[in-house]
Amino acid sequence: RKNIWKLSTGSKNLDEILGGGLESQSVTEFAGMFGSGKTQIAHQACVNLQCPERIIADDAIKEEILNEPKAVYIDTEGTFRPERIVQMAEALGLDGQEVLNNIFVARAYNSDMQMLYAENVENLIREGHNIKLVIVDSLTSTFRTEYVGRGKLAERQQKLGRHMATLNKLADLYNCVVIVTNQVAARPDAIFGASEQAIGGHIVGHAATFRIFLRKAKGDKRVAKLYDSPHLPDAEAMFRITEKGIHD
Ligand code: ATP
Ligand code: MG
Repeated sequence: RKNIWKLSTGSKNLDEILGGGLESQSVTEFAGMFGSGKTQIAHQACVNLQCPERIIADDAIKEEILNEPKAVYIDTEGTFRPERIVQMAEALGLDGQEVLNNIFVARAYNSDMQMLYAENVENLIREGHNIKLVIVDSLTSTFRTEYVGRGKLAERQQKLGRHMATLNKLADLYNCVVIVTNQVAARPDAIFGASEQAIGGHIVGHAATFRIFLRKAKGDKRVAKLYDSPHLPDAEAMFRITEKGIHD
């Protein structure tokens, strides 16, 4: 795998357990309960893409990435907030409106729309847009509401598998960073045990290269745990979510 680059999360601690940042040519999954910070991390990634110091790449490839990089944000829950992007951008001394202009927000109301938007990213790239970040927030919510019960499980897994294959292909072919979020209702420790599989949380284990579990700690603190990575050790990192965004 040539030309891999990394996008900082905004937190050095979190970047470190990821091996330097969010890696291109891979899908990174952020799982966690409501309010754990999945959507905030996704917003911060869109802002960081416009911040050259937050892109870690060899000189040869950096030029290509910095050539008007754009993000696609597939929003299935209606939680994308332009004003939050502006707030995070201004905290970094960037022009909020300019950052917003480089994010394609696609509101998906069902899983078919969600899958179609992911497939259409390739068209945007062919039209000349330098898409370097693709976000699906949330990956699983539409599937959970549409495919209810045991009888629908096989079909759900099959469709999710196809969707993940589309995302992995985008990451590989176009050297993109891909982030997916996954709300889990289980206790934080349950994700590492059998009960997590029982509620169907195993679906993504699937095809994401990096899996991070987020949990709330005191105040604005959050703990991120990397697990099941093929080439990195399980590890934990502490970061914060404040009005400035994601940072140590
Ligand atoms: P869900 O599963 O419900 O989608 P999530 O993991 O996506 O949850 P986020 O929306 O990322 O959760 O996190 C929400 C939390 O982020 C808030 O509870 C708050 O603590 C923090 N937060 C959001 N916006 C701000 C802000 N402008 N300033 C400070 N903290 C903020
Ligand atoms: Mg969210």
